[in-house]
Amino acid sequence: MLKAMMQAKIGDDQYFDDGATNELQQHVAHLLGMESALWVPSGTMANQIALRLLTRPGEEVITSRESHAVWHEAGAGAANAGVQFREIGNRGVFTARDLEDGIKPKGNSIFPRTSLVQIENTHNRSGGIVFPVKLMRDVVASAQKHGLKTYLDGARLWNASIATGVDVAELAMGFDLAMVSFSKGLGAPGGSMLAGRADLIAQAIRHRRILGGAMRQTGFYAAPALFALEHNLSRLVEDHHKARRLAEILAGSGLLDIDMNSVQTNIVVAQLRRPDIDVSELKENLKRQGVLINSLGGSSIRLLTHIDISEEDVTRAAGIIGDVLASLSRRK
Ligand SMILES: *Cc1c(COP(=O)(O)O)cnc(C)c1O
Repeated sequence: MLKAMMQAKIGDDQYFDDGATNELQQHVAHLLGMESALWVPSGTMANQIALRLLTRPGEEVITSRESHAVWHEAGAGAANAGVQFREIGNRGVFTARDLEDGIKPKGNSIFPRTSLVQIENTHNRSGGIVFPVKLMRDVVASAQKHGLKTYLDGARLWNASIATGVDVAELAMGFDLAMVSFSKGLGAPGGSMLAGRADLIAQAIRHRRILGGAMRQTGFYAAPALFALEHNLSRLVEDHHKARRLAEILAGSGLLDIDMNSVQTNIVVAQLRRPDIDVSELKENLKRQGVLINSLGGSSIRLLTHIDISEEDVTRAAGIIGDVLASLSRRK
């Protein structure tokens, strides 16, 4: 990737003459089956631009429970687009029926107007769960029938595609706008892409500027992203296998509860069997031994595999987690 950065065709993206960025935008629009695509510095910014394009202040956005938009964007949807969220379904997934039940009745001057449905695929806080393709199609069709706009938060869409064998274009089909990230499983240093109809993307350029995300020599990010799409996409399956292996070892330890059905991509969410163990203490102890984990609140933890984690690392990490948990359990 460093080599790709050094050889990149660099220009000023504010004048649309950064070669690598233009190439990446065309390539990703094509991959997603969309007319047009725009590079943005982060997935969060793509999500914010989408909200500003597809909603009006005071409206309601329907999304999955514990979605990134609700939990991980510092309240940005309210701050930048003036919308509120309604969370539906379970563990990242909902049905067309759930959606229909969630839409506020129309023509009522007191209720907020439901204007957008947002799907997160894969779903981070639920453990990288894939939104089932059939359900997604039904949800998109139902949204269209009820006059709602549709947005796909596909920061991890590459993983969903590799896990299901369904093309990203098919996974993005029917959505007004879709976002993908280069900085997650693909391992590029940064950047995301917002894709959709050309007229919407033309407006997105202005919102990117408003949010302070318009940059100049973005090719230094676009070139490694192009490299990542070529070299790091099909290997995501290895991350999925490693996550599965990690989950199997940890579930076998008897110290953690893991729903193996939720381990579909590169994320493992686990609950400590002993709720009296302090998760921040666990985190600190693991960090000292080189194992990094996330806390999801309560006694839930999140583990993740990626390009820099080898098979041996997985076995070693599982061993260390088992040992540290066992010693913390004994002490209580
Ligand atoms: C990481 C992530 C984002 C945000 O991406 P950033 O580049 O970190 O802002 C959005 N949605 C989901 C599902 C993510 O996992």
